[in-house]
Amino acid sequence: MIKYILKCVNKHEFESWFSDSKEFDRLKNKNLIECIFCQTKKVEKSIMAPSVANSKLHNKQKQISNIKMKNFKKDLLKLRKFVENNFEYVEQNFANKVREVYYDKNSKKNIYGKATQYEKEELKEEGIDLVNIPWVDKEN
Ligand SMILES: [Zn+2]
Repeated sequence: MIKYILKCVNKHEFESWFSDSKEFDRLKNKNLIECIFCQTKKVEKSIMAPSVANSKLHNKQKQISNIKMKNFKKDLLKLRKFVENNFEYVEQNFANKVREVYYDKNSKKNIYGKATQYEKEELKEEGIDLVNIPWVDKEN
């Protein structure tokens, strides 16, 4: 199968599939191709869009998403740096430390650490919402 973008004299564009590249000419010679919008038979092939073009497009999309990922990662690294600079890392008993900070009205401490799903739910029940931060590796 091959996909063509067809264009009529009235500049309507539409896609159409053909079993092979010769089928378009065959159908056109028999006047079997017409614009789906205005039904004119004056239709020409505009751009051929077979799978080759699609794979190129696919690569483009891949490139774009790679760029996005890179920027995204940069942002996450910035976020990580911000947390590391402004928050105190609590290695053990993070959930309890969170409570300490939360219930101590005078505390202006910012802490970060790891909590299990169970701890998170427990804290949430107490009204303490933790913010999950996607933690990216600095390397690679
Ligand atoms: Zn048309």
